Amino acid sequence: MSTKVIEKPGGKKIYMYKEKHVSEKVYYHRLKCKENAKNLNKRNNVNTLASNLNSNVNENQLIVLHGRRLIDIEYMGKQMFCRKCKEILALEDIVHEKRVMLASMFDVKCRECGALTTVCSDKQHQVLSIKDRKVQHFDVNTSIVFGTLNTGLGNSHLNKILSSVDVPNCNAASFRNHEKEVGSATWKLTDESCKNAIALERQLTIENIEKITSLL
Ligand SMILES: [Zn+2]
Repeated sequence: MSTKVIEKPGGKKIYMYKEKHVSEKVYYHRLKCKENAKNLNKRNNVNTLASNLNSNVNENQLIVLHGRRLIDIEYMGKQMFCRKCKEILALEDIVHEKRVMLASMFDVKCRECGALTTVCSDKQHQVLSIKDRKVQHFDVNTSIVFGTLNTGLGNSHLNKILSSVDVPNCNAASFRNHEKEVGSATWKLTDESCKNAIALERQLTIENIEKITSLL
């Protein structure tokens, strides 16, 4: 795609960004954003663990151990023991991470016996998918989608906030999946709350029927 500055006779400059005519300010701002995105990608790739490269793990699952994560500290802390020899595990010994939105599943190598233990960053709960299949969702993912929608925001807004604190972004398809879960839960709550309000109104009307009649 064309991104260039065309100099016209007389010194006038035309700024083209992706084949669109833009102002000088917008042109340089977009170039700067592009450069920042490039640098961020470079940083993401530099720290990939070498031990991951020769494993038979899907490339999408290879993770860079940098930045921040949202973890349930108590829940994760209780799992930081080797499944084989019960030795305490260290975060420094994570050899692989599989991310599911904001949650992570870490493979941690034991310093004592070398066995790998999978440690989850958060609790999970069961939900029914559209096809009525039982699937597991991490609590943190459902909560973040609920919070985002509740404040009137969407996935892209959420990702901007996450990027600013160096937390991995949420994939749009996964966000939609959780949106469905949150949507049906919210609908149930709203329905129940409406029914309660109607019942209360009916009860109050019956209790105060004499007062109401005298006002008519
Ligand atoms: Zn061990």
